[in-house]
Amino acid sequence: MWIKEENREVKTVAYWCSHCKIPVIREKSKQEFCPICNHKMKFLSNTLRPVFPAEEKLVELMTGLDLKDKIVWKGKSTYFVNGKSLRITNKEKVDADDAFLRKNLLKNAKNSEKFDKNMDFFIKANKNHLNYITQEAIEFIQEESRKYDIKNTMVSFSGGKDSTVVSDLVCRALPDKKIIHIFSDTTLEIDSTYQYVERLKQNKQIEMHIARNNDNNFFEMAKKIGPPTMAGRWCCYMFKTGALNRKMNEIFDGRVLTFYGVRRSESATRANYNRVEEKTESVKISNQRSSAPILYWTDLEVWLYILANKIDFNEAYTKGYNRVGCYCCPNASISSELMERIYNHKKYSKWTKQLEEFGKQCNKSDLDDYVKNGRWKMRNGGVGVKAAQSVKLKSTACTAEEHGKIYELQKDINKSFFNLFLPFGYLQEGRKEINEMLVLQPATMIPIISIQPLSERKVKIVTINAQNPRSLHSRLAYQIVKYNACNQCLKCESLCRFGAITCKPDKYEIDDKKCKRCQACVNPKYLAGGCLMCRYLRTKKDAQ
Ligand code: SF4
Ligand code: SF4
Ligand SMILES: [Zn+2]
Repeated sequence: MWIKEENREVKTVAYWCSHCKIPVIREKSKQEFCPICNHKMKFLSNTLRPVFPAEEKLVELMTGLDLKDKIVWKGKSTYFVNGKSLRITNKEKVDADDAFLRKNLLKNAKNSEKFDKNMDFFIKANKNHLNYITQEAIEFIQEESRKYDIKNTMVSFSGGKDSTVVSDLVCRALPDKKIIHIFSDTTLEIDSTYQYVERLKQNKQIEMHIARNNDNNFFEMAKKIGPPTMAGRWCCYMFKTGALNRKMNEIFDGRVLTFYGVRRSESATRANYNRVEEKTESVKISNQRSSAPILYWTDLEVWLYILANKIDFNEAYTKGYNRVGCYCCPNASISSELMERIYNHKKYSKWTKQLEEFGKQCNKSDLDDYVKNGRWKMRNGGVGVKAAQSVKLKSTACTAEEHGKIYELQKDINKSFFNLFLPFGYLQEGRKEINEMLVLQPATMIPIISIQPLSERKVKIVTINAQNPRSLHSRLAYQIVKYNACNQCLKCESLCRFGAITCKPDKYEIDDKKCKRCQACVNPKYLAGGCLMCRYLRTKKDAQ
C-alpha cells in the first residue's frame, strides 16, 4: 500500500524472514528486521500471495518436487519456495497434461496444518500494518458515505478477493446499515463464484442483487462479431458494466456512491486510477461516484486482511487462481487458462472449440497454435467477421442541396430510425410528399436538420443554417452508424445520465421525454465514431 506518512505516499513490498519463513510488509529500501525473531530480512517481491495446499500440490505435480517441509508463496509469476524463486514457464503450463493434473488433484487433498501455522505467523508479524490500513480504509468509507444519502450507496461485487475485502470493510464502517451489493453476473463466471455469492446472501447485513444481461448470449455474439480480443473486449460493456448500470437504474433514483475493489497494483491502466472518480470521461457508468477504499493495497495486504479476519472468500483462490473472472476472457493469463483446463474443463473446452471454428473461418493454418498460444486474442478489429461491414459508412454529397448528404443504410428505414435524431432536438413532420422529418433546435424551435428517406435503404440528410455543418454532419453520421451497427453492447445506456436510452435487440430507443439533449451520446469524447462497434469491428489493410 501507499501509506501516508508526513503527507508522503509510500509503496510497500514484501520482505522475507528466512528464519520464520514469512513475508513481512515493509517500505522498500530500508534495512528491515523481523518483528518476531529480529533477524535481518531481505527484499523478496513487490507482490506476493499465499499458496494454499491444493495449489502446492499442483506445483509438486508440475515440477516433480517434494514440498512437504517447504513453505511456498507466489509472486507475480514466480513461486517462492522457502524464499527461493521457482519458475514454471508458460510453455510448461501450455503443454501441461491437464487430464493427469485433474485426476491427481482431485484425490488426496493436502493437509493444511503447515499452511495454517505459516499464516498465523504471517498475520502476527503484520498485525500493526493491518490495523493501520484497515482503520484508514474504514475512515475513508465513513467520510465518503457522510457526503451521500445512504440509500444510494452500494458495493459493486464481482466475487473476487478485492470486492470481498471492500464488502467487509463497508459493512464494518457502516454497521447499522443494510448494504446493497450488486453482483455482476457476466454469465461466464466459474462455479465457485456462484457458490460464493449464494453463501454471501446469508449475511444479514448484505442485500444482494444480481445484474445480468439476459438479452444477449455471449457465445452467439462471439459468432456474430468475433471473439473478444485484448484490444476489443466488447463483452465488458455488454455483460458487465451495461448490466450493472441497468440494475442500478432499477434500484436507485439519482446519483449513486459505489464502493468497488479496484487497486492500482493490479495493472498499468489501473495504476493511474484515482481513489474517487466521478467525471463522465473517467467512470464507466455516468451517474455514479466510484470510490476505491483499497486503491493503494497490494495483493499481500488483501490476503492479510482476508486471512486475519477469517472472512469467507471464493474457493477458486485456494486452487491456484490468481484472479477470478470470466473464463473466456482474452486478458486471462496462461496460468488462469491452465486453471480453467483443470477445474472448469467442460465449459472451457466448449469455448476453445468455438475459437477453433473461428480460426478456421479466418483461414488460420495452425489451429492448435491459434487457440493454445492465445493468438486469437491478438485479432485486429473485425478481421474475418462478416459483421465488420456494418461499421463502414457509405455516403455521398448531395449535388442538389448544399449541406446535404446521402447515406446508405444497411437495414430498412423504420420509425426507430428517426428516433435516433432526438439528441439534436425535437422531431416534427415536414413536407408530406417527400416523407420529410424535421429536427427543431430545442431553444428556438427552428428546423436545423431535414431527414428525407429516398428509398428503403437510402436517406438524405440536410443541415439547415448550422454554424458548423461539417461538425453537425459528423455527429449525425454517428447515429447512422448506430442504426447500422448497434449490437446492444449497452454502452449507450450507461453513457446517458438521464436514463433516456434503451438498447434492446433490434431496437435502439431514445425516450423523447427523458432526453435532455445533452448530446453526450453523440460526443466523440465519450464515444468515438458514435458506436463502440467501430472500435471492435473496424478493419485495417495490414491486419493479420
Ligand atoms: S445522452 Fe441521453 S440525454 Fe443526452 S442527448 Fe443522448 S439520449 Fe439525450
Ligand atoms: S450503439 Fe454501439 S455503443 Fe451504443 S449500445 Fe449499440 S453497440 Fe453499444
Ligand atoms: Zn523472523
